[in-house]
Amino acid sequence: MTARAMLEVAALAKTYESRDGATPAIADVSFTVAPGELVCLVGPSGCGKTTLLKCLAGLLAPSAGEVLLDGEAVRRPPPNMGFVPQDYSASMLPWLKVDSNVTFPLRHKGVAARRRAELAEETLRVVGLSEFARHYPWQLSGGMQQRVAIARALAYEPEILLMDEPFASVDAQTRGDLEDLLLDVWATYGVTTVFVTHDIDESVYLADRVIVLSRRPSTVQRTVPVDLPRPRDQITTKQLAEFARLRTDVMRTIKRAGGDESDLSPSGPHRVGASRERTEDRQ
Ligand code: ADP
Repeated sequence: MTARAMLEVAALAKTYESRDGATPAIADVSFTVAPGELVCLVGPSGCGKTTLLKCLAGLLAPSAGEVLLDGEAVRRPPPNMGFVPQDYSASMLPWLKVDSNVTFPLRHKGVAARRRAELAEETLRVVGLSEFARHYPWQLSGGMQQRVAIARALAYEPEILLMDEPFASVDAQTRGDLEDLLLDVWATYGVTTVFVTHDIDESVYLADRVIVLSRRPSTVQRTVPVDLPRPRDQITTKQLAEFARLRTDVMRTIKRAGGDESDLSPSGPHRVGASRERTEDRQ
């Protein structure tokens, strides 16, 4: 368990109500995230990951329980929180150039024009897009647009970053590059990060801890600590026996919880390496 929590999710539940009936998405989820931690939430499609992230971001009111950020209840999007959505193209304003897309939310935050320009320059440099600042988003590839979305979130100077399956719709090579970019950014800025994915390998590669959610309505099945050395590398880290053990461990947890691994990437059981049980935080 973590020492001091930056983010605390306590007995959170969410049921969508409509004229057609109730859809319970989250049954009971509790966890904490310490300052500077990178935590991945992994679970099958439809288990309530996006719903959970929207509750964390103050975009959706929980039906029960609460979300605390630095001890304060989250009831609206907090000013020190950045959000990177899955659908990068829908999150771009097509009539604004890349640098203006990055600085757009800063106008609402009341950041002065000169500082906005500095932040755009710095964050676009960090994500390797300096030379595309005066392009329109639709002139960039999907992976580049997702880099813009990361730059925009960083320009907001968040203390905590929420990412909702941000690399799900790019090709495998680009996905690996974006994962490494995220790890660089995280190491550079030290920003506390909650990263939602349905990809087991991605969760183990990125995280300090993987929180495994059950099928809908979701609960926390288990928290798996990831002690892989940093900096991580797509080739050498994924060759480690410990990496294979952890991915097997996460996948077994999902299977045991009644999840279907065909909902998760990569598909099929992985039996590489010995699986040694860990029982931390089993819920
Ligand atoms: P995930 O991100 O894990 O794929 P979601 O959080 O998007 O899952 O959805 C969890 C469940 O809640 C699904 O069954 C989905 O159909 C339902 N759901 C999501 N949003 C709404 C909504 N606005 N109204 C009603 N049901 C919803």
